[in-house]
Parts: sequence; structure tokens; C-alpha cells
Amino acid sequence: MDAIADAPTLADPDDAPVPHITHDPATGRAYPAPTSPEPDFVTLAHQLIDACAEATDGCFPFEPDGFCAHGHPTWLRRLGVV
Ligand SMILES: [Zn+2]
Repeated sequence: MDAIADAPTLADPDDAPVPHITHDPATGRAYPAPTSPEPDFVTLAHQLIDACAEATDGCFPFEPDGFCAHGHPTWLRRLGVV
């Protein structure tokens, strides 16, 4: 099996999966499980540059290190970018 052929179309074959941060480091409270698909790297980069980020339940937009009203962190926070 060819690993590149098995990768999703938009994924960079050199990218390793980014582990999720599942608990708030400040409070130890578990983050809710994501209910929307993880954005690709370019989308996340734009969200960081624009300081306008999507939460893991699809709520949008928020500060890159923020949470939505439902307690979901942004993808940037969950992926440890901010
Ligand atoms: Zn929400």
C-alpha cells in the first residue's frame, strides 16, 4: 500500500497527525469532543493570522485562544497552536 495514495487529498504526506489537547491546561477540565471536521492547515493558518478562529463545534468566529458559548475551544487551542 502506498501511504501517499491513502492520505486525504488535501493532506501533506510529510505532515504527522497533530495530537489534540483534550483538557484545559489552566483548569484541568476536559474539552467537549469536536462536533465539526478539523480544518486543514491552510485554513487554520488563516484563522490564526486573521485572529478569527472556529470552535470545534463549528461556531465562528472567536479569538484564536477562545471558547464558544457551548464550551468548545477553538481548533487552534485544541491543536495546541495557541
Ligand atoms: Zn458553540
